[in-house]
Amino acid sequence: FDVSCAPILDNDNHASGIVVVFHDITELKKLENMRKDFVANVSHELKTPITSVIGFTETLLDGAKENKTLEEQFLHIILKESKRLQSLISDLLDLSKIEKDHFVINWQKVNLNLIVEDVILILSDKAFQKDIILINHKSDPCFAWGDPYRIRQIMINLITNAIAYTPSKGKVTVSLENDEHDVKLIISDTGIGIDKKHFPRIFERFYRVDKARSRDLGGTGLGLAIVKHLVEVHEGHIEIDSELGQGTTFTISFKKAQDE
Ligand code: ADP
Repeated sequence: FDVSCAPILDNDNHASGIVVVFHDITELKKLENMRKDFVANVSHELKTPITSVIGFTETLLDGAKENKTLEEQFLHIILKESKRLQSLISDLLDLSKIEKDHFVINWQKVNLNLIVEDVILILSDKAFQKDIILINHKSDPCFAWGDPYRIRQIMINLITNAIAYTPSKGKVTVSLENDEHDVKLIISDTGIGIDKKHFPRIFERFYRVDKARSRDLGGTGLGLAIVKHLVEVHEGHIEIDSELGQGTTFTISFKKAQDE
């Protein structure tokens, strides 16, 4: 509680009482703590790759570059860490834009089948490299009411995760379903799965089940936070179902575009 007091003065300016105001600032404190946590997390996430880039560059300059094998190995690490930094900065900028109150959604009738095809094409190489089958489960035409660019971003984040957290020889399936008022985007994988105890926190910024694994896979820890916000601004829903060691399914519902 924040407490403030003021005296009550009578006509002769004598104190005749006191007013005490208790102001419940629990919510404010909570917000303030969340902001502090976020700044601490961002700083830490930025520091790790930068430290690595500086360290390996210094070692190269100190003589390691004379050894061609070491040089190549270190340059690969520097490149990987720099790319992670790039993704992190881009995700952070995007998240701050999406979280703004006046974030603009470019509402229109969106052909989901076309976006699924496009995203699968973009990510097919990533899947191929890991020997994962990426399946476009053909469905009836599905039209959502939303922003095509942002819906594409939701798909990219979820399918990229599905590929990242599925071991080779696994399967990632993308399907669309029409309901009476909604259209559903379903992304399921046969990957490592997520223990249900993580469900309540999985959409938090920088929350990861396994930090080392996520970092190694080039993750920023912001993908699902961005997805959650984008689904919210679309007034949609997101559901998660997962079995440890079996796989994960994310189901997103969007408002169905009505025929004009
Ligand atoms: P990251 O960049 O770490 O992937 P995300 O916000 O995209 O961050 O996801 C948060 C965490 O959720 C991941 O670190 C991972 O532990 C878990 N996760 C997300 N998608 C999947 C999935 N399809 N299968 C298993 N775990 C997942």
